[in-house]
Amino acid sequence: MNLLPRVLILMILGSVPLFAAKTPNFVVIFCDDLGYGDLGCYGHPTIQTPNLDRMAAQGVKFTQFYAAAPVCTPSRAALLTGRLPVRSGMCSDKKRVLFPDSAGGLPQKEITLAEELKTKGYATAAIGKWHLGHKPQYLPTNNGFDTYFGIPYSNDMDRIASATKYREACKNAKIEYFNVPLLRDAKVIERPADQTTITRRYTEEALRFIKTNKNNPFFVYLAHSMPHVPLFRDKPFVGVSKRGIYGDVIEEIDWSVGQVLKTLQDEGLAGNTLVWFTSDNGPWLIFETHGGSAGLLRDGKGSTWEGGMREPGIAWWPGKIKPHTNHSIASTMDIYTTCLTLAGAKVPKDRVVDGVDLTSVLLKGGKGPREAMFFYRGEQLYAVRKGPWKAHYITRAAYGRSQPEKHDPPVLYHLDHDPAEKHDLAKENPEVLVEIAKVVKEHKAKLVRGKNQLNTLIQK
Ligand code: MG
Repeated sequence: MNLLPRVLILMILGSVPLFAAKTPNFVVIFCDDLGYGDLGCYGHPTIQTPNLDRMAAQGVKFTQFYAAAPVCTPSRAALLTGRLPVRSGMCSDKKRVLFPDSAGGLPQKEITLAEELKTKGYATAAIGKWHLGHKPQYLPTNNGFDTYFGIPYSNDMDRIASATKYREACKNAKIEYFNVPLLRDAKVIERPADQTTITRRYTEEALRFIKTNKNNPFFVYLAHSMPHVPLFRDKPFVGVSKRGIYGDVIEEIDWSVGQVLKTLQDEGLAGNTLVWFTSDNGPWLIFETHGGSAGLLRDGKGSTWEGGMREPGIAWWPGKIKPHTNHSIASTMDIYTTCLTLAGAKVPKDRVVDGVDLTSVLLKGGKGPREAMFFYRGEQLYAVRKGPWKAHYITRAAYGRSQPEKHDPPVLYHLDHDPAEKHDLAKENPEVLVEIAKVVKEHKAKLVRGKNQLNTLIQK
């Protein structure tokens, strides 16, 4: 038999693919301090989010999707490494996040999602808030990203102290109160960053990157600086929302999401691009109307109650995903493992990876593989969820001077029956506490804590 018929037979048998399957592109849209109750599709009565509502209707809308920490730096470290922040040293009992005078950052030995995707030929862009170290060695361009455009830490930092008091500066914000830099790769290109246009400019950067890389696989990490206080929005969004300035900001983010999805569709990329939308932690409630809403969940940013870590979580991939609402427990850390699996890249085997693969949940629905969720505040394990049950070993007010309160026995909630964590059922369910104690024991026995990265300051 000559070669041509043989090749044809092999193709028909499937041994030689007619076209190599294209690995999917990934876009991760990550908000800052967005609450569980802040989107139309998650029940907000006056904030209008038509694009996110459509994304949720066409995709998978998770109802029990968790950030891995209740504040920015550890949560972001976990998203990009698939690991609880306590393993990388990116959390602390003394400094809850990195500050402009912090010397540390994400350790080089951590393997970011971007670094692993690079091994599969992905073009990678980080756009927006970074907050994993702003010294040159810690910037996105040294962590697997080809390019970076954004404010490297929180938008309320580098405050000009003489201008006005912190709370006042956040609530009646002016650009010049916060001397935050805007970076292009490792270079400061604007200072203070004009935050009124920041959501729009992050969006334009993302669209440009998508269009430029449409012929090769790409990963865009679009981490909005908003709706973290101080709140800023571009002119077309001033006064548009019935919810006031906070609503304006969310509606601009919704516009941004719409632009990303539309561009993917216009460029013929939608069927081969998985887009995620979520946030790093819950709403910053101490900022009152300038903070968001956790909906029916208890408390917000900074706390290990549900409102601190349970987030809107939406995955969109038209033609591939089975559109539905999913009640599985899932986490930002699972984005890591799921994307690497879909890209045919390897999930690191030489370390504990906490992310689980959600591919089957996305494509077919059903129950996901995640059984437990650990709720750390800084370096301490405060609470553990197993199935519908969550036991709090320690509780503490999100902010302020209050001390941690230890519970023995722990307080116990059934989150399916009582998502607001109101009714302690510990007394009636001692066997559940025994089960959860086993999970805790196993977790602690294997835990290797990373060297703390948040406590060291830059020497002056
Ligand atoms: Mg945050």
